[in-house]
Amino acid sequence: MMLIEMRNKCNSKKPVVKLNFVVRKDNRHEKQSFMTRWRQIVDSVSFDEEHNWSGQDSLIETKEIFHACLRIWNSFTILWDGRAALCCLDYDGREILGNLNSQTIFEIWHGSRIRDIRNLHIKRNFSRIPLCRSCTKIR
Ligand code: SF4
Repeated sequence: MMLIEMRNKCNSKKPVVKLNFVVRKDNRHEKQSFMTRWRQIVDSVSFDEEHNWSGQDSLIETKEIFHACLRIWNSFTILWDGRAALCCLDYDGREILGNLNSQTIFEIWHGSRIRDIRNLHIKRNFSRIPLCRSCTKIR
């Protein structure tokens, strides 16, 4: 609130303030009141379903995957040491696509491993991708 007050006092549009509510079983009922309270105050309010960090949070129930994950067609993640990981949930580099120390982004983007993974997603053959097979993000 203080940040927004200061910004408004300066007659500035920046910083842009966005709130994202992570929807869980125990707070789902608060979605509407959250939206009602904050949409008049901040620049945007969005909602995201809780996920299991590609199987790394075992407390969150795994469900069957129904469709391919769009992330692998629009991004990959560069780790601190230049390795290219499959997605932003792969913070430990469990599915490495290449390495920016020796390859270009173009080469990694069109590389054999990411192409294999895209094909496996198209065929919904998730069991062959350890990182994706128990991910709840895309369901
Ligand atoms: S299915 Fe999950 S782990 Fe696999 S690319 Fe999508 S978000 Fe990442």
